[in-house]
Amino acid sequence: MFRSFLGSHKDCPHCGIHFERETGFYLNAMFVAYALGFIILAPTALYLYLRQVSGFWFSAIIIGEMLVLWPLIFRYSRVLWLHADQLMDPRRPEDTP
Ligand SMILES: [Zn+2]
Repeated sequence: MFRSFLGSHKDCPHCGIHFERETGFYLNAMFVAYALGFIILAPTALYLYLRQVSGFWFSAIIIGEMLVLWPLIFRYSRVLWLHADQLMDPRRPEDTP
């Protein structure tokens, strides 16, 4: 589904379905990204809290982890949203104009 590090194909190179079926389609991937970010960062935050790390180091480590992981979160949130959308409202290759 990706043609470069952060760039997406408009259509599937294998079966030809159109990924972005409407304007703002990937907006919902943002909510998936929030959930993924929370799931990924919560264990680190809990660990740092239990270790009683200072506020500065807590913020620095969480922000650092976020910066390192955001490309993965960005990509997988789009992939997960695309699959969720496909499950809720299936499309077939012949639907593509
Ligand atoms: Zn395909």
